[in-house]
Amino acid sequence: MVGRILIVDDVATNRIVLKVKLTAAGYRPVVAPDGATALAMARAELPELVLLDLMLPDLSGIEVLRRLRADPLTQGLPVLVMSAPADARLRVECFRAGADEVLTRPVDDQTLLARIRSFMRQRAEFAELGPTPAAALPLMGLAEPAAEFTPPARIALITARPETAMRLRRELAPHCADRLIAMTAEEALAEGLRPGSAPDAFLIEADLAVAGGGLRLMSELQSRANTRHAAFAILGTAESGFAPAMAYDLGAHDVAGGEISGSELALRLDRLLRRKRADDRLRASVQDGLRLAVIDPLTGLYNRRYAAARLAAIAEGTAAEGGEFAVMVVDLDRFKSVNDRWGHAAGDAVLVEVARRLGLSLRSGDLLARIGGEEFLAALPATGLTDGRIVAERLCHAVEEAPVQLPCGTRVAVTVSIGLAVGRAPGAEVPLRDTMRDTVDRADRALLAAKSAGRNQVTISRSAA
Ligand code: GH3
Ligand code: MG
Ligand code: MG
Repeated sequence: MVGRILIVDDVATNRIVLKVKLTAAGYRPVVAPDGATALAMARAELPELVLLDLMLPDLSGIEVLRRLRADPLTQGLPVLVMSAPADARLRVECFRAGADEVLTRPVDDQTLLARIRSFMRQRAEFAELGPTPAAALPLMGLAEPAAEFTPPARIALITARPETAMRLRRELAPHCADRLIAMTAEEALAEGLRPGSAPDAFLIEADLAVAGGGLRLMSELQSRANTRHAAFAILGTAESGFAPAMAYDLGAHDVAGGEISGSELALRLDRLLRRKRADDRLRASVQDGLRLAVIDPLTGLYNRRYAAARLAAIAEGTAAEGGEFAVMVVDLDRFKSVNDRWGHAAGDAVLVEVARRLGLSLRSGDLLARIGGEEFLAALPATGLTDGRIVAERLCHAVEEAPVQLPCGTRVAVTVSIGLAVGRAPGAEVPLRDTMRDTVDRADRALLAAKSAGRNQVTISRSAA
């Protein structure tokens, strides 16, 4: 649920204080006093974030973390551990068990809220996918395929002094299978312009040439196409009065202090990269979804819905230029008998091959769509009757010319009939939509005429609007 945060703490006053603060900040906190309740609520309430205390009466916080990560429904849930001042080993153990952040009590309110905002922002990108993004994420690919080989990531190290990058590399290398590449701010910006090779993650010192220069660089990289979706971690230096809250609010996915151990930093980077890969997968599946919404899966041609939109654009372009556009409705002849004789799968193979031949006979700016079972529509911008007819004859010929070879080896002769109509730029008094519909209607009627005249031919609608 949007804004829902699960607070897990065995101390009642801690729960109450946090709940009040989060409510004041506009979130909807729910609370659990022990590990078992927390696990049940994480599944039932689908929170967007968990604030987890390490000391619980029944299970240890680490165990709760492990169980959250083992459950496909909750494994993508961001978990922020709140602990008493912990030694480096315990922190590492938390990250290893799947924590996204470990904050030491007492936690400064500003930092906590900025950290929460940062988690919420990362999820907001996908929030429109559904009312319960937490539930949708694992289904849509956040769960990393267990056996999948992930190639080493490229992590860019950008530090004020080259020695710092060298030290980081030395400290990270034993814990990290990814490629660590030291680069300057200028080199990083150049990566942002070069497609394909951009780093997967950036580890940037907060202060570069000037105080806060690293934060500015991060904002710059986040505004560039090739580096926009990278993971960003900021390395703070205590002496400059650096505020983690500001780094989070500027878009950092993680902020670490300068004194952090190499093993902890490696685990944090690993967690960031996992999230980034999951987000990339999710983004790709959204793009696939968009593709599927406009593409006919059998032939790979555009579908009817997309054809309507493109046709409108073509008609509009014609109106602007005062020219003409050609519309063809193409229908397979006696296609039912192909199915009846050779089976539906053979019919499908014929449709795929006919679609391919039609596509090859058109220009790249022309529209070709499958608008019905065995019916296609072609729309040709800036094309009048004479040229339209030549193209339509060419389409007929491309289908008739050679029989279609079925996967089983059988060859089937097929033909198409085509109705052709030309649309003209409408006068101001005729709406564009009517011109479009009228042109397609006329092409449809011409197709019927081609069918009754014997099929395998082009008929032109002469009753121009
Ligand atoms: P006509 O020359 O008059 O167009 O005859 P026809 O047999 O092509 O036309 P009719 O409309 O009678 O039949 C169309 C057939 O197309 C019926 C249907 O089974 C088949 N068909 C429609 N969509 C698909 C499809 O996706 N795959 C296959 N294999 N067949 C399809
Ligand atoms: Mg037909
Ligand atoms: Mg038909």
